[in-house]
Formats: sequence, structure tokens, C-alpha cells
Amino acid sequence: MTDASETALVLFSGGQDSATCLAWALDRFARVETLGFDYGQRHAVELDCRQKLLEGMKDLHPAWAERLGENHTLAIPTLAEISDTALTRNVAIEMGEGGLPNTFVPGRNLVFLTFAAALAYRRGVTHIVGGMCETDYSGYPDCRNDTIKALESALQLGMDKPFRLHTPLMWLDKAATWGLAHELGGSGLVDLIREHSHTCYLGERGARHDWGFGCGECPACKLRAKGWREYAARAA
Ligand code: ZN
Repeated sequence: MTDASETALVLFSGGQDSATCLAWALDRFARVETLGFDYGQRHAVELDCRQKLLEGMKDLHPAWAERLGENHTLAIPTLAEISDTALTRNVAIEMGEGGLPNTFVPGRNLVFLTFAAALAYRRGVTHIVGGMCETDYSGYPDCRNDTIKALESALQLGMDKPFRLHTPLMWLDKAATWGLAHELGGSGLVDLIREHSHTCYLGERGARHDWGFGCGECPACKLRAKGWREYAARAA
């Protein structure tokens, strides 16, 4: 399904999922570029984690260091302007209408993947990798496999390029995502992601838990903690 002579562009926020996706791409493609978005999110700390993860991945495998290419950042302040969410404003995280938490930024993944495709087009890249996941997706409709498939078709048509949107985590739960990291890079990669990836919605590094840093109370921290416990139990 992938060509080992080709380049991939990975949506890389600095979180657990995107860090695992980056390792997945480094394992498969000849060259890998990364893309992060700055849209005024509360957890700008996540963007700071990116650099440590990139450096760490280079140290893990000489082959990965050779394959890792440019790291792009795109600022999309407009996304914060048009959304009123707990990720971009200083409000409490709660459930909103339709069972969606107010961390939902409407259309965020559609915007991210479209910008990624535009950048990929310019750089002659057709493989785009993202950490969207339908298993632990908090009900975000733009994480669904059907959404990604529809967008892949739209991007192929709209830019007249054979784009492939790869979502290696689509059917994995958080415990299985840790398992995939172990498969790809052993305990060195698991430790790197645990220590330096950032998932907390509140942007807190705070206390060091067995699953990494974070407030421990927000939905993202709870999901990550639950996944780590299940992974650790399976590995034991
Ligand atoms: Zn948290």
C-alpha cells in the first residue's frame, strides 16, 4: 500500500497519536516531513514538545535520522477566530449540544488535511499521514473513517493529484496505540513518547504520572491514563 521510495507528510502536533504516526511513517517511507499547526490553541506547550520528539526519534534509529526531513509550521489564527471552544478560549471543558465536548473545533481536521494537501502538492508529496481515530474519538465527526475517505476523494479531485490519506490509528484504542509504538521502536520509543508527547487539553505539564505529564483530570488526560493502564496490564 505504500512505496518505500516515496515521501510522506505527517500531521505532527506533538501528541501521543501524532508521535506514533510519525514513527509509523519513518518505518515505511524513504523520506518524512512533518507539519504542525498553530491556531491559538491553549496547549501551545504541545508545539514545544515537537522539537524534543523529533530530536529523540533521530537518536533512536540512524535510519530514521536520515529519513526525517523538513519540519513545517503553519499558523491558522482564523480557526480560533471562528470557533468558540475550550481549546482556544479559557473556558471549562464540558459536554455541549449533540453530545460533543466543547473541545470540538468544527471542521478542524478538514482544514488541517486540506492545508496539508496544499503543502504536499507544492512539495511533490502524495502521502499524508494523520492520527485520526474512530475508536477513541470523543465523537468528533471529522475523525471518522468515512469523513477521511470522502476528503481523500475530494482532495484527489480538487487538486488533481493521487493523494493518499493514511490513518494508521483509525481502528486502534489508546492501549493498542502504545502497543504500535512498541512494535515500531521498542521501549525506547515508548519512553520517548511517554516523556515528551503532550496530550492534556489544559496545556499543563504539571505532575509526572506513569503515563506522562498532564493535569490528569481533563478528558484527554483520562483517556491517555486509561490507555496506558490497559497497555501496561497487557504488557505485564
Ligand atoms: Zn489534562
